[in-house]
Amino acid sequence: MVHQWQCRECKFTVWSSKQSELVDAVKSHLLSHYKHTVESDEFSLRWDCPYCNQTSQSYDADEGLAKFKNHLFKHVSALIDSGVHVADRIDRVGNILILSPLETAGADNARVHFTSPADVAVFVTNNPAERVRFLDNALQSWPAWTTILTTKAQPFADVTDIDLEAAPLDIAILDKGVSMTELGETLVRVLDEQQTSNSRLTVGFDILSELLRLFDTETAFKFVHVLNSRLANMDALTHYYLNPNAQPESEINVLKELFDLQIRAKGSRFRTV
Ligand SMILES: [Zn+2]
Ligand SMILES: [Zn+2]
Repeated sequence: MVHQWQCRECKFTVWSSKQSELVDAVKSHLLSHYKHTVESDEFSLRWDCPYCNQTSQSYDADEGLAKFKNHLFKHVSALIDSGVHVADRIDRVGNILILSPLETAGADNARVHFTSPADVAVFVTNNPAERVRFLDNALQSWPAWTTILTTKAQPFADVTDIDLEAAPLDIAILDKGVSMTELGETLVRVLDEQQTSNSRLTVGFDILSELLRLFDTETAFKFVHVLNSRLANMDALTHYYLNPNAQPESEINVLKELFDLQIRAKGSRFRTV
């Protein structure tokens, strides 16, 4: 079950399946708002609560700060919602940018979260073997149908631990020189073929950084923009992955505008950026 906390002072939201991790993130966030009410010198630390005017003084700085964070949290703990889905924020249709290195626990946690409500899942990836291992291990069951789009030749050569013949899985190997238009057309066609009247569609898109590397920024942005609107028209939920450490911050800031929601994924935690 995923828990959510939304700040009343700003747009920050954090989600986690682990309540304790959520609480830690909330406390740190609250402190970032109210640091100015903390005064300290070499002997003591003193704070004033912005909510109830309680003041406190401690002779140990770490202890004093922890006490302040616990106190602040008591004022907002009722804002925690449980049993939510991050995609509720966008009514479960649209596109989400997940800032995280691709092969991490955080990214996999996002893949579980955004794939698990799906009947039809598509992954556009250079790591097809990792994605089928993920589908087999991390999800309670495979989606009714999964298609993997990749340019990797012999994508499952080293996957001997899963019976892929028996899995509800299709693979489309694209030419290495595939154009963005062809990629987009193939993706839409695959979804179209698998879609039934009530099926929920998700797309996991791993190759954003490749597109930014291979094409100029404007061309890549235009592609994402067009693809996003086509997939949203099909009522799909698309989750894009991008390693924030491998991209200039200015580029990420512009790119963020193309998405309905932007989050950072780390461990079992997601937070808005
Ligand atoms: Zn805030
Ligand atoms: Zn207070």
